[in-house]
Amino acid sequence: MSLQLETNKRRTFAIISHPDAGKTTVTEKLLLYGGAIQMAGAVKSRKTDRSATSDWMKMEQERGISVASSVMQFPYKDVMINLLDTPGHEDFSEDTYRTLTAVDSALMVIDVAKGVEDRTIKLMEVCRLRDTPILTFINKLDREGKEPIELLDEVEEVLKINCAPMTWPIGMGKRFKGIYHLYNDTVRLFESADGLNASEGELIHGLDNPELDEKLGSLAEELRDEIELVRGASHEFELDAFLKGKMTPVFFGSAVNNFGLQELLDGFAKYAPAPEGREASTRFVKSDEEKLTGFIFKIQANMDPKHRDRVAFMRIVSGKYEKGMSLKHVRIGKDVKIAKAITFLANKRDQAELAYPGDIIGLHNHGTIKIGDTFTQGEDLKFTGIPNFAPELFRRAQLKDPMKMKALQKGLTQLSEEGATQLFRPIINNDLILGAVGILQFEVVAQRLKDEYNVTCLFEPVNVSTARWVIGDKTEIDKFLAKVKENVAYDAAGELVYIAPTRVNLTLIEERWPELQFVATREH
Ligand code: GDP
Repeated sequence: MSLQLETNKRRTFAIISHPDAGKTTVTEKLLLYGGAIQMAGAVKSRKTDRSATSDWMKMEQERGISVASSVMQFPYKDVMINLLDTPGHEDFSEDTYRTLTAVDSALMVIDVAKGVEDRTIKLMEVCRLRDTPILTFINKLDREGKEPIELLDEVEEVLKINCAPMTWPIGMGKRFKGIYHLYNDTVRLFESADGLNASEGELIHGLDNPELDEKLGSLAEELRDEIELVRGASHEFELDAFLKGKMTPVFFGSAVNNFGLQELLDGFAKYAPAPEGREASTRFVKSDEEKLTGFIFKIQANMDPKHRDRVAFMRIVSGKYEKGMSLKHVRIGKDVKIAKAITFLANKRDQAELAYPGDIIGLHNHGTIKIGDTFTQGEDLKFTGIPNFAPELFRRAQLKDPMKMKALQKGLTQLSEEGATQLFRPIINNDLILGAVGILQFEVVAQRLKDEYNVTCLFEPVNVSTARWVIGDKTEIDKFLAKVKENVAYDAAGELVYIAPTRVNLTLIEERWPELQFVATREH
């Protein structure tokens, strides 16, 4: 099939939500619609332990699941869906941010009782950086919650996005009777259905259908009035506004009951954008270009702990991947043969034969690939916009056995390549300082150093409160380095970083060196 056709079939997205809103449950049900039953089971089993640390550890023990469910590809009707998982725990938020650079749309899941929550607000801000189109699923209608109209107001007000209801709930909680589709003019009656059963409730065509009165009694008339009101008071869906990230189509349902998701998925397949091009250093790369380009947005430990290799996840921006092809690893300027890329189709961790724009392939990485790297068929370009955030927490690695210094350095360097932590080496001493966005990261790193590198190490407090990458003219940098030695370090990529003991100190340094920039995010 032609490249163009395959590209247009792709829909690449991620789910954003506050923990507990139902992301895992929605994921699982969507996979069922795509026929990926085995994988749906795996997604759920990952969530049996609610503690994030042990969740993570267990997940890493079962690396097969961990890697395979980072990207889930499944067909639905005439589209091919790529669902990118994002870690739920806040301490892994950087990973989430970068994953959002690899999608073309996002699904926001909101708990009907809780409304818009903190994490949703933050993730929405990230989506807004690229005006990513967002669909909304309001979940748990089988429970009592906020009035739907109020909820839409809340979304509009807090998230600054217009809501266009696509379906509308008929009652909620114990009185939940179903949903009405405002554009298909159909009512689906609520039936609770859990497990692997993807069947849905009965469908009644037409709001005026007398069958509705038979089934719903006086509620039918109430529904008709309410729908009239809703149509008057809410926004009508506009594709263009949705694609610009200014309007979100809203669907209601109950994920655990597998209800309302069919409507959501149909809407998604119909309206969510096919793969978009991406901005690169020299030009904009369009998704319909013949030559392959792609960028790495995530690196993760591989299935097989014995080999300790890692998988680098590449989003294909343009062109077609064919097994065995050679690609240019732009940063190091070398051609590499990609013999065994991983694909994620329908829960099989298969070797990728073919992959198209919007698809994700996994490259085996023995330390040469970093987050943000670009691969092309020869052209020197670099995709932009994949951020590294200044960490907010710092610890010094304290080694138990001094003979293991080499292994510790290697472990910390390799783990920081995955992007969740960052390693800083001060220029005046041999400290190894680890920076992270969440406290959990230190525990995870300590555990992995033990398991994967056979190094026991503690992380102790260190007098660093914030970090800034230092950017400026070479002469100015040299002057700076000649004067300021304390608190200056290099990160794992060899970039200069100022690790400030206090905010006040940082401000002083910034004032003293006006020719230099001290930046809180660095592009990979
Ligand atoms: P996540 O943290 O966002 O991934 O949320 P989960 O999918 O793990 O769901 C959190 C909790 O809400 C779990 O106990 C689910 O069983 C429950 N849940 C999910 N969807 C629904 C729903 O539609 N109705 C009700 N009553 N509970 C739900």
